[in-house]
Amino acid sequence: MNEGSARRRLVECCHLLYERGLTFSAGGNVSVRLDGEAILITPSGANKGLLGEDDLVKMTMGGEVVSGGKPSIEHRFHLGIYRENPGTNAIIHCHPLHCIAATLKNEGIRSCITPEGALLLDRVPTARYETPGSQALVDAVMEYADSPAMLMDRHGAITQGRTLEEAFNRMEELEFQARLQLLAPDAEDLPANEIDRLKEMRRCRYWSPNGSASSSSTRGPAA
Ligand SMILES: [Zn+2]
Repeated sequence: MNEGSARRRLVECCHLLYERGLTFSAGGNVSVRLDGEAILITPSGANKGLLGEDDLVKMTMGGEVVSGGKPSIEHRFHLGIYRENPGTNAIIHCHPLHCIAATLKNEGIRSCITPEGALLLDRVPTARYETPGSQALVDAVMEYADSPAMLMDRHGAITQGRTLEEAFNRMEELEFQARLQLLAPDAEDLPANEIDRLKEMRRCRYWSPNGSASSSSTRGPAA
């Protein structure tokens, strides 16, 4: 995907995250890997509902700004995840209300209550709380760098995908499952044999950074 298309898609994604209530005010950050050794990432302190294409920051994988202003305070864990997972082309971090509520209740996200959860999310770990923007937070996130989706204690969530759409779908599904669990806290998981069947479908249909899925994803290779 060329840089112009990547800018347009990234801004569309930010507006959608904001309109869907998945992030608020200036919270969260989104990035895509460009062809070669560079990423585009949202700037520091920008409202995601008002973001424009010219606001985006282009950085090298080494963390140097190529164009644009000040990058998101969390650019280091974006770069770390890209370096760890060559197949990852898009990363979304935001602050979904029900995901944060789940961490405050000391509950993880159970992904096997519904079939879509089992297909899209895999196991969802929770990164420990650390100060936003700190190296300690980067270290906490990198412990789960190969997870398609993770929660962050008292903070939010991170998803990744081979495409921006895949990362967005995972974030939307993660927040859906968090809300579902709060509404139906006694819900049981699907039967074990059904979960096995869904895991097999997931392996065939969905890309995953930890290699639990095949490369035959239905979506294109770029963000
Ligand atoms: Zn955050």
